[in-house]
Amino acid sequence: MPTTPIKRLLFAQGGRCFFCNDLLSAAEVSVEHLVATANGGGNSDENCVVCCRTLNRLLGRMSLKEKLRVVLNQKGQFKCPNSGVNRKSAGHYHVMVSPTIASEEQLAQVLADLERRRTARPRTVKTLSSTINVLFKKQLSESEIASLLDQLQATGVISVSGTKVSYTHAPSGA
Ligand SMILES: [Zn+2]
Repeated sequence: MPTTPIKRLLFAQGGRCFFCNDLLSAAEVSVEHLVATANGGGNSDENCVVCCRTLNRLLGRMSLKEKLRVVLNQKGQFKCPNSGVNRKSAGHYHVMVSPTIASEEQLAQVLADLERRRTARPRTVKTLSSTINVLFKKQLSESEIASLLDQLQATGVISVSGTKVSYTHAPSGA
């Protein structure tokens, strides 16, 4: 087992930065105390990680809470395991956290929009997807848009053949 703290940590992390996962060169590696020593953090491996020197410098004496925020701000993919059921009441904090399955309400909005478009309805999967995206002010995830398309097909509103979309019901008034 490697003996110096930096070698132990490098070994444990596969030679990669704890935060960005890049391979660390000898010049770049530094030991980051998760709870800063200035805040009472210890030198044990428990409290230490190796990471890029530049990030270590940036994190400096931040509290663990502030560090978490810095790290999470860089994580585009992180999602809490919300079912999406309580999304409405969650307020603006969860605007960017999207459930995978589109709601009935969203489906109704899409149907109303298509109704308004009458003969100007999108004719390809691509344009329909971007129409839906714009309708929801680009707040939907790709999986939600895919889910809406699935539901439109499942309810028989559209049928998809290759990249083409056709509408089962003739537009009213056309
Ligand atoms: Zn890094």
